[in-house]
Amino acid sequence: MLVSQGVDAALAGVLGLLIGSFLNVVVYRTPVMMYRDWLFDAVGHLMTSPDGGPSLWARALAPASPADARLRAAADDAVPVLEALPPFDLARPASRCGHCGQPVRWYRNVPVISYLALRGRCGDCNARISPRYPVVELVTGLLFAWCGWRFGLTPVGALWAACAALLVCQFLIDLDTQYLPDSYNYMLLWLGLIGAALGWTGVSLASAVWGAVAGYGSLWLIYQAYLRLTGKEGMGFGDFKLLAALGAWFGVEFLLAIVLVSSLVGAVIGGSLLLVGKLAHKDVPISFGPFLAGAGLVCLVAGPARVQDWLPFAFPFH
Ligand SMILES: [Zn+2]
Repeated sequence: MLVSQGVDAALAGVLGLLIGSFLNVVVYRTPVMMYRDWLFDAVGHLMTSPDGGPSLWARALAPASPADARLRAAADDAVPVLEALPPFDLARPASRCGHCGQPVRWYRNVPVISYLALRGRCGDCNARISPRYPVVELVTGLLFAWCGWRFGLTPVGALWAACAALLVCQFLIDLDTQYLPDSYNYMLLWLGLIGAALGWTGVSLASAVWGAVAGYGSLWLIYQAYLRLTGKEGMGFGDFKLLAALGAWFGVEFLLAIVLVSSLVGAVIGGSLLLVGKLAHKDVPISFGPFLAGAGLVCLVAGPARVQDWLPFAFPFH
């Protein structure tokens, strides 16, 4: 039993190292791809809108000049710039050194090992490579190994590994850019609901659905109250969607525990950022997303029931 469990964990861990390497690419490229999409969308809207007439464009701009020639001219200028852009997605262009531009050769792209063998430097130009890349690979590897240990090489294990990978993504993308991509939030939400419907997550479908509703609704209410009281937006809509997804994965009864753990994760991350001096500007808003994603990973590894036991003060009737 233990031996086969160990083999499953080792195999899942190796897969996790490879997926972690891919996640580094996903985390770096997804925000750029999103931003490109937004630019194409914006220009596309300006190009396709007819001058004058009862178009949505005109209605949206009313009572300002309904078909502002300046916006149209800006779009005309932007089109050749956007069309000249080289393809950019998760596969293209091939990974290259951010310093010398040399493509990363496959034998220097082995998770963690290449970083250690090259002593954290580019094999071509000797520029320093951020230790974050091997750390992400290692953490993803460990999370996958844990899923393999706990659930074996089964569809259930794969589902939880997917949950872990998506949470790692959202954690890092929000930390870097303050965005939580809808695409990954919704993937997480749907997988949580489907997992509950299949009985794979140990959460009843009703608890998953209400967890999603209460996850979104509770943060939405806090957002609205904060906005009314202070005139400021305390968090983003991506945060509501991420807590909705976590509610679907862990069930409505653990929602409060997740939120409490996310504040603890926030204190830990905020403290470490203060220590390394990354938090020089007090005005820069720290997003809530990394804390939520971190809390999700804690619940994934420890199990939400144990997490709730760590927080007895929050559950006087428990
Ligand atoms: Zn280089």
